[in-house]
Amino acid sequence: MSSLTSGLKRETWLPYGRQWIDEADIQAVTAVLRSDYLTTGPKIEAFESKLARQVGAKYAVAFANGTAALHGACCAAGIGPGDEVITSPLTFAASANCVLYQQATPVFADIDASTYNLDPAKTAELINSRTKAIIPVDFTGQPADLRTIRALAHEHGLLVIEDAAHALGAFYEGEPVGGISDMTMFSLHPVKHITSGEGGIITTNSEDLYEKLLQFRCHGIVRERAKLIHEAHGPWYHEMQSLGYNYRMTDLQAALAESQLEKLPMFVAKRREIATQYDEAFGAMKVLQIPWQSSEGVSSWHLYVIQLRLEQLSAGRKQIFEELIALNIGVNVHYIPVYYHPYYEQLGYSRGLCPQAERLYERILTLPLFPAMTAADVRDVIAAVKGVTERYAC
Ligand SMILES: *Cc1c(COP(=O)(O)O)cnc(C)c1O
Repeated sequence: MSSLTSGLKRETWLPYGRQWIDEADIQAVTAVLRSDYLTTGPKIEAFESKLARQVGAKYAVAFANGTAALHGACCAAGIGPGDEVITSPLTFAASANCVLYQQATPVFADIDASTYNLDPAKTAELINSRTKAIIPVDFTGQPADLRTIRALAHEHGLLVIEDAAHALGAFYEGEPVGGISDMTMFSLHPVKHITSGEGGIITTNSEDLYEKLLQFRCHGIVRERAKLIHEAHGPWYHEMQSLGYNYRMTDLQAALAESQLEKLPMFVAKRREIATQYDEAFGAMKVLQIPWQSSEGVSSWHLYVIQLRLEQLSAGRKQIFEELIALNIGVNVHYIPVYYHPYYEQLGYSRGLCPQAERLYERILTLPLFPAMTAADVRDVIAAVKGVTERYAC
């Protein structure tokens, strides 16, 4: 560490994200431990209906995690071998892996250089007769260009599966994210807006997709008499009609998620407040660029991603990253373009595919942002980022 910045070192590590658990959450979970059902009990439906109502969707299906939920959405969408699904390269691998799980092909469309979300014009260029769906990602919590993507999907008969892992509590053109796309996925991992330890959920307004999601989550099993293929052998009778999985969420998790949901407006407000403080502190700096926000959406601020202006700096992103880590500021990088991963390389994807995403990847840093950050934490981040980057201004 340089003696010039060592005075900025925090005594404790500040992660980029972490959960907020209070006494009400703990009591909600312990109440389930004392109840009859640890899994598939009353808490699942209670959480599902509460979340559906909150985001303005008719139905919601909770899953063991967000990745399982995306897998379910791809299956419900009828995606299979030979199909193509267009998604963003600037995301967590799960947004594309869910397509591979169905033996279909993820196709990466480049991002828009200002919003960092899927570029609808680049998406349109990649649509062909094999395309079945589009998976836009609401990167950092800023909704993708959902109106244009929905129009494209409608024109070509595609489904939109929105990866809103970052966007619970976000709005698009005045509507909450969750009731807009054919299916919307939220993740309940501890770094996300609300948590159930591990968990995910799909919202939809389609009864047909809802029923397919329920079946997929529980082994492909059907119990409802009216929907049986064979005649019931007796009261015990049920049928496995498709190859599903055990992707259920437990009641312990659903109780935690339901309790957390009460705090969502407060969580988002706190995140927004910190993002505003960052905007004010960094907005006029020459060496970096703050995240641009489109007027169509209102971000829920899962991540605060700065872009280094490398032309104005004599140090690279790696050095700045390492110096901030040495000061106990838990910066991160979201994301390595999905197709850079060796598994994708081996499938035939290669560098150069999405130049905007690749350029951005060289320049980004995610700063700590979570509701439990104190005013002193925020001041530490601002001082460290300014101190480290401005030293290399050229
Ligand atoms: C977190 C995340 C997921 C996966 O969610 P899990 O609950 O961790 O499985 C998918 N997509 C994006 C963009 C994410 O950030």
